[in-house]
Amino acid sequence: MERVKMNRVKNIVLIAHDSRKKDLLEWAQFNRPVLREHRLFATGTTGALLAQHAGLDITRFRSGPLGGDQQVGAKISDGDLDILIFFWDPLEPQPHDPDVKALLRIAVLYNIPTACNRATADFLVASPLFHDEYERLLEDFSLMREGFVRRLES
Ligand code: PGA
Repeated sequence: MERVKMNRVKNIVLIAHDSRKKDLLEWAQFNRPVLREHRLFATGTTGALLAQHAGLDITRFRSGPLGGDQQVGAKISDGDLDILIFFWDPLEPQPHDPDVKALLRIAVLYNIPTACNRATADFLVASPLFHDEYERLLEDFSLMREGFVRRLES
């Protein structure tokens, strides 16, 4: 197992589908003092709303449907993001559903704490680990891939 260190100051990414943006905004406004202690990232429109209405300093990726979810997934696989707050729409299909699925898969694969609703987001910010160092365990999938390549070559 590989261990990936998460620092006290976390890199947190926030994303909300349109029907969930109000919910995320309210949550972020309420938790503004806690969120301000960390480095924040968001997809385009979510980030613009959070900056404007919650006064948060946020690095923005592209809008989700324009590739933002894929950018976030790439950052997670590079080890650059620690926590995912992703309020996705459980009732309506999205034009970029494959990207949404891919992002959730990458978050599980890289053992990233992920909140897809407000209650889970509340539990995350209330955890002492939110403000502390933490070592994420990662399966060493490269060994599995190496075994596959060896079998191919034999
Ligand atoms: P948005 O993207 O923040 O640009 O609206 C979110 C998404 O749909 O994934």
